[in-house]
Amino acid sequence: MTLTKEQVSGLAKTPRCPRCDLNKTIGNALCRSCRAKLPENMRLALERIPSKDAWTVSRAVRAAARYFDVHFQSVRNFGGGRPR
Ligand SMILES: [Zn+2]
Repeated sequence: MTLTKEQVSGLAKTPRCPRCDLNKTIGNALCRSCRAKLPENMRLALERIPSKDAWTVSRAVRAAARYFDVHFQSVRNFGGGRPR
């Protein structure tokens, strides 16, 4: 899964976290609570995502999804910025 530039800015603009539905800050890929569970290097890659290139963000989102799967047994689908 690789996100397009458009999906990245869509994900940045959604006011809700794609993982847990809490409110998140515009510009970040995940809410503060989800990001707090990640190691710092992963967390940084998911902040201010419009300033990063789509490939970097895709890789970070994928890494985070894998991290959550492994560490929290969560198999939620993580589709970046898909409208619902
Ligand atoms: Zn969250």
